[in-house]
Amino acid sequence: MTQLIVSIGGDAIERIRAEIEAAADDGADMVELRLDLMEDVSAEALRTLKGDRPVGLPLLITLRSTAEGGAWAGPDVAAAERLSDLSAIADYVDVELALWRRSRAFRAGLCAALDDLSEPPALIFSRHDAATRPATLQKDLLAMLDEPRCAVVKLAWQARTVRDNFEAFEIVRSCPKPAIAICMGEAGLPSRVLAAKFGAFATFVAPGADRVTAPGQLDLGTMVRRYRARSIDSQTLVYGVVGDPVRHSLSPLVHNAAFGAFAVNAVYVPLPVLAGYESFKAFCVEALARPWMCLRGLSVTLPHKADALRFVEEHGGDVDALARRIGAANTIDVEADGRLAARNTDCAAAIDAICAGMEVDRAGLAGMAVAVLGAGGAARAVVAGLAEAGAEVTIYNRTASRAAAIADAFGCRHLPWEQRTGTTAGLLVNCTRIGLAPSADATPMPAEALRPEMAVFDTVYNPMTTRLLGDAASAGARTIDGVAMFCRQACLQFHGWTGRSPEAAGMERIVRNALAGER
Ligand code: NAP
Repeated sequence: MTQLIVSIGGDAIERIRAEIEAAADDGADMVELRLDLMEDVSAEALRTLKGDRPVGLPLLITLRSTAEGGAWAGPDVAAAERLSDLSAIADYVDVELALWRRSRAFRAGLCAALDDLSEPPALIFSRHDAATRPATLQKDLLAMLDEPRCAVVKLAWQARTVRDNFEAFEIVRSCPKPAIAICMGEAGLPSRVLAAKFGAFATFVAPGADRVTAPGQLDLGTMVRRYRARSIDSQTLVYGVVGDPVRHSLSPLVHNAAFGAFAVNAVYVPLPVLAGYESFKAFCVEALARPWMCLRGLSVTLPHKADALRFVEEHGGDVDALARRIGAANTIDVEADGRLAARNTDCAAAIDAICAGMEVDRAGLAGMAVAVLGAGGAARAVVAGLAEAGAEVTIYNRTASRAAAIADAFGCRHLPWEQRTGTTAGLLVNCTRIGLAPSADATPMPAEALRPEMAVFDTVYNPMTTRLLGDAASAGARTIDGVAMFCRQACLQFHGWTGRSPEAAGMERIVRNALAGER
């Protein structure tokens, strides 16, 4: 079983003890004492952790050097002394490969201390690079495998792109010794979450959300509850959201909750992929070349929705007619044999959210005058659905040529952006980015242009109540927020992947709580 190791640093023994006890209560398997972050705590005090009032978890002791991203800058002999002093309370000792190879005195000092113990701790040989993937990564791995004292290998490096995770998975899968391979940074989150799928010896977490010290690092609660780390095994299917940025995406929250609710053995991770078709294609090609990853589906968000459609088409997959008409796919389905399909769930989700919010059925949209602000990907999906339902759509967009292109494609009108305030439509839909956090003070429509007989739907869902919706409510208009659409598009994705239908209302509760917590 992959160990969940909580990493602790601190300068007061009582706080360290309390954090270890909290980690044990929260289900950690082991605690890493970052001795380089505990220089003011004496060895005598630390030894009490396994002495008079012992803590119940195995301990790993680590003295991470400044050269490898830690705080220890002392001489090699002093490093051997610090680790030796505490080796009696440790179940594992982290030894940096570079220090081990460089310093005969370090090796001799530490080995002498270990050989004196009746039950010596096992050694985890490590190599960290906080800047990039080291050119010597594979050579370092071989050196660790050659070293008889090395019980576990640990390689951690700053992910250059999300594709570095693939090498981490391969190291862990094929290593003849127990192994840990971690990609640091936001792009490396899959290497931490999927450690159990590939049989890693361990993955590291922070004790609490307020103690996360690096992007991509998760706290124990998030790892166990959001990513359901305890239920990940070699059979777990993998899903994710591809986009840039995806750090604040709520998709992992809702899809993982739904996998948990339906007891589906699957996990959903953020997959940051930089803008550009080549980046998107490189990620997909590399992921699909590894069938053992069990990738079964992708949500696709900005800026890759058109790339998703193109990629699936170029790889001989099925593109559904609606996604083709919209020119964008927000969902890729991956069959076990690698066959691909692209679909668009934004369109049906938007129409469903509008109907629910206005308390009408689809037939009730026929002939309705609708003003759509914006002419990007979201607008194309919304307009496609409204036009199909027979609504009379007028598009207003800052860049007139984009409005004209959508109007032509879906048989509707377009007017200059400046004329939006004169609309008499019964439904106003914001499909621009105006009002999206952190520019939540902005609105695409002056308050005085909003009327009580209007319904106003804002596709922006963060914040939940945009300035536009606040102004609309003050004007007495009916309002529909973007959370309703977001959850419905996720439900449709989930249904396509699993055949199960989560309740949109349940997902909405989760998203609304999360967004309310962010404020
Ligand atoms: P996009 O393709 O980049 O389009 C952005 C649109 O916003 C364009 O029409 C752009 O006009 C307009 N815009 C941006 N800044 C503007 C400004 N300062 N003044 C006037 N117009 C401006 O983005 P998208 O994918 O369509 O997404 C648009 C919004 O929909 C986002 O806020 C996103 O969060 C939301 N969305 C929500 C959901 C959901 O499930 N709730 C799903 C998808 C998208 P130009 O053409 O002139 O640049």
